[in-house]
Amino acid sequence: MSTAQTLPKSAGRLLLVEDEESISEPFSRALAREGFEPVVASTLAEARACLKEREPDLVLLDLRLPDGDGRELARELRASSQLPVIMITARGSEVDRVVGLELGADDYVVKPFAVAEVIARIRAVLRRSGQREPRPERLSAGDVTVDVPARRAWLAGEELSLTRKEFDVLARLARNAGEVVTREDLMSDVWDENWFGSTKTLDVHMAALRRKLGEDSNAPGHIQTVRGVGFRFAPAGEE
Ligand code: CA
Repeated sequence: MSTAQTLPKSAGRLLLVEDEESISEPFSRALAREGFEPVVASTLAEARACLKEREPDLVLLDLRLPDGDGRELARELRASSQLPVIMITARGSEVDRVVGLELGADDYVVKPFAVAEVIARIRAVLRRSGQREPRPERLSAGDVTVDVPARRAWLAGEELSLTRKEFDVLARLARNAGEVVTREDLMSDVWDENWFGSTKTLDVHMAALRRKLGEDSNAPGHIQTVRGVGFRFAPAGEE
C-alpha cells in the first residue's frame, strides 16, 4: 500500500519547549488540530537538539525548565537568528514581562493561558515575521553555493558529497562569509553547547572539508585559518 499522499499545507512548524506534560500534551494536540506541526521539547538540551534537527518557524518557550532558564535559550536564539519566540511563563509580573521582551521575545503569555488566545498570538507573530526579510536559505559565496534546508552544497556548479558535520561546518562558515568564525562558535553551533571534548574533532572535519573544496596545504583557498582565533570563509571569486 502506498503511503504517499498530499499533505495539507502546514500552518507552521512549532517547537514547544515545556516540561509540564499536563500543558504540553493538550496544547500540542490543539496546535496539530489547527494545522500546525508541533514538536515538544521538555528541556533546554532537547530544545537545542530539535533546533538543529528541524528548522521551526516559531518557538514557544517556557521560562522554568528542569535544566535551566528559558531566557538563556531566548538569548542564544536572538544572537544567532530571527526565529520568532513566544515566552510562556507562570510569573505574571511586569518585571518578567519587560525582561522577556528585552530578550527579543516577540510575545509573551502567562500560564494558565487559553489555548485559543495563544494560537491567535502565534498566527499574529508568524504573520509579522513573514513580512521580515526572509532568512537567506541558499547562500552563495564566490564559487560555493550552500542550500541550507536541502542540505546540499556545490563547488563551481559541482555538487559536493559532504558528511553531516562537514555540511554543518560549511553552512556555518558560509553564513558569515568574509568574517571570522571562532573555533568556540563552530564547536557550540555544530556540535553541542555542552562540549567537553578536544577541538581535534573540528580539525579533522575541517581538513576533510578543505580537501573536498579542492584545497591542499600549498594552495590555501576557501577556508582561511585565523591563527589562535578561528576561520574565515573567503572562497575564490569573493572580494
Ligand atoms: Ca516549567
